[in-house]
Parts: sequence; structure tokens; C-alpha cells
Amino acid sequence: MAAGERDLFRDSVRSFVAAEVSPNAEELDRHGVFPEDLFGRMGELGFFGLRYPEDVGGQGADFGTACVMYTELAFGSLSLAAICAMQSLMGTHFVHRYGTLEHHERYLLPALRGESVATFALTEPDAGSDLGAMKTRAKKVDNGWVINGAKTWITNAPVASFLTVGAKTSDEAGIRNIALFLVDVDNPGFSVGRPIEKLGVRSSLTSEVSFDDCFVRDDSLLGEEGDGVRNIGGVLAEIRVMTAALAVGLSRRALEDAVAYSKERQAFGRSIGKFQSIEHKLAEMETSLYASSLMTDDAAARIDRGEPSPHRSAMAKLFATEACARIVDETTRIFGSYGFAMEYAAQRYFRDARFLLYGGGTSELLRGIIGRGVLGEDK
Ligand SMILES: Cc1cc2nc3c(=O)[nH]c(=O)nc-3n(C[C@H](O)[C@H](O)[C@H](O)COP(=O)(O)OP(=O)(O)OC[C@H]3O[C@@H](n4cnc5c(N)ncnc54)[C@H](O)[C@@H]3O)c2cc1C
Repeated sequence: MAAGERDLFRDSVRSFVAAEVSPNAEELDRHGVFPEDLFGRMGELGFFGLRYPEDVGGQGADFGTACVMYTELAFGSLSLAAICAMQSLMGTHFVHRYGTLEHHERYLLPALRGESVATFALTEPDAGSDLGAMKTRAKKVDNGWVINGAKTWITNAPVASFLTVGAKTSDEAGIRNIALFLVDVDNPGFSVGRPIEKLGVRSSLTSEVSFDDCFVRDDSLLGEEGDGVRNIGGVLAEIRVMTAALAVGLSRRALEDAVAYSKERQAFGRSIGKFQSIEHKLAEMETSLYASSLMTDDAAARIDRGEPSPHRSAMAKLFATEACARIVDETTRIFGSYGFAMEYAAQRYFRDARFLLYGGGTSELLRGIIGRGVLGEDK
């Protein structure tokens, strides 16, 4: 998208966020329920299909434009932004890329219109960063596969209609035997557990799911058997940069609130922003946010040029999410005890920011990847 068009798009998402998201963000967090109306609105506005081609109802936008959307939504509510990220990226990507025309008609198109919820299930109770430890198995039978196992931390699972699931097709160790399958939640043998009570992003519901002799047809295999991790790797840079874009939005929101409070709150006969210690905090926050934005934009532009850099995407995710965790922490300090009060939003930013530290690779894992890149050991 040309720069002018992207700016217009940014303005339109900003207007939506100001009118419909920010006023509801506290309510969404407090009640921790899936925001059906806002989900439908995001579908109507074309957010879920933003990057998909027109033949499936999308708008064919580039990744940089999608990052603008993720950032602006995170400015309003990280819960809502997380829901949109799952629906527009991991939840639908593999169905679009590897699904049949029937899958597109039945699953993808309604999901992009905001009429059904999609999700992606990889993590297991005993296998998070270490995908090779995955225990979920898909066994080949006549005309299809039978899946057994359990997944956890699955975003939107309690309200999802279908999911892309990672399962091993043999008992071999490692990750070369992981395949992706499309599973309809109405399939016999599939069930959803209780939502996990979470610290943050509370209206993006998360739960365990189980597969107990869950049969799926042959055409439910998304991509080649054994190519699951390679295919996930194909969108990993996007997942990481998307997470960095979310961090930029939440950071900007927290900083804006911190600046406003620093001007308004009086202590010792002056506004607290006049104390050098507060001024320095704001300077550090602004500088980190600026660097986060530049790294995110650069990594996104590389993806749009067809030159995705695993190294730079990992650095953008690591830097922007860690910066966000510091910015929201400083915001609560600037708010003094009011940063500890539920009636102020600062505590929500603080809780929500933690979510960004896990998905798409924890900071510890990313430092390992970046470090091996620096040493040239990743070749
Ligand atoms: C709100 C939320 C929503 C989520 N949604 C989804 C979803 O929709 N689908 C899905 O599949 N998953 C989802 N996840 C799961 C997420 O992807 C995992 O939590 C993440 O991959 C980390 O796995 P883990 O929590 O099992 O931690 P572990 O992998 O067990 O890590 C534990 C600790 O060990 C460290 N560690 C592990 N390996 C290494 C290493 N090689 N080097 C250095 N340190 C290491 C980690 O950094 C961490 O500090 C979600 C998580 C959250 C919190």
C-alpha cells in the first residue's frame, strides 16, 4: 500500500478504536468475556481479510499495513488486538495456503467476514518452546487420520469453529514428523476445556483442547506430512513482527497516559513532570518506543520486499516486547498508588504486556536465536 493510502487506513482504524474499542476496553478486561460484537465489527471492516487476496474476500494489503492495524488495535485494547491477530494470521493462514476450495468456502470465507472464529493449536501441557516434545499423535487410517492428544493455551478456543492443529505422525523424536491438520470443532472426539483464568488479555479467552480418537478426512492434512514446522517457519517472521507491532501500540498508549498524568498530577507545588526523575523516565520510555517502532517497521518492510530476516524479526520482537514491559512498569510508577488501583488503566497495561513475552518465542529463546546468528552458528 502506498504511504498516503496507509495513512488513510491508519486514520480509519484510529477512528474505530477511539469510538468503539477504547471506551469498552476496561469492561472487556473486567468481565473477561469474548467481545462478539466487536469481533463482528472487525470482520465487517475487513480487518481479518486485510492481507488475503480478493478472491477469498480479502483486500490484498501488504504486511506493513497489517502492522499498522495491529498497533492501532493494541492502543485501544490488547485483548481485541490479540483476537484479531489470531484470526487474521495463524488461525486462517494455513487454511488459506494449504486448504481445498471446499475448506475455503466452508471455513476461510466466513472467518474472514467475522462470522466464525479460527484458532491455531501447537502448545501442549509438556511442550511449549520445545516442539519436539509434542505428544499429540495423528495416526493414518482409511480415508483420513485419527488424532489423540491435548493442547493448552489455545487462544479463542472456547468460541472457535475450527482450528489448525500440530500433531506428530510417528513416534520419532524431533520436529520433522509434525504435520498440520484442519479440525472442525463439531468433529466427534474433539472437546474444549475450561478457559484458563489469566492475568491479562482477559477477553481473549484461552483454554485447553483435547482430541480423543478425533477423525479427520485425508484432505484435512494442511501441507505435506512432515512439513508442519517448516510451514510454520514460513510465517514465523510475520508472527514475531506482528507481536512487536502489538507491543508498539500498547507502549504508545501507556506513554500517552503517563505524559498526561505527569502534567496533571501536582506534588510539592508543581506538576510531577517537572521533577527530573519523572522527566528522565519519560525520555527513556519515548526513546525505547521510537526504537521499537523503527525496528518493527524495518522488519515488516523486509517481509514486504520478500526478504524476511529471521534475525531482525527476532530482534524486533525481543526489543519491542521487553521495551513495552518496561514502559508499562514505569507508567504504573508515574501514577504512584493510582497505578495500583483497578479504576485506572495503568494496571491493565501492566498485566496485558506480560502476554507479549511468550507467544512467537520467549525472550530467552529469542536471545538464543539472535546470539547464534551473531556467532554465525545458525547457518
Ligand atoms: C495468553 C497466551 C495465549 C497463547 N495462545 C496460544 C495459542 O493460541 N496457540 C498455541 O499453540 N500456543 C499459545 N500460547 C502458548 C505460547 O506459545 C507458549 O506459552 C510459549 O511457546 C512458551 O511455552 P511454555 O509456556 O510452555 O514455556 P516453556 O517452553 O516451558 O519455557 C519455560 C521457561 O524456559 C525458557 N526456555 C525454554 N526453552 C528455552 C531455550 N531453548 N533457551 C532458553 N530458555 C528457554 C523459557 O524462556 C521460559 O522462561 C499462548 C500463551 C499465552 C500466555
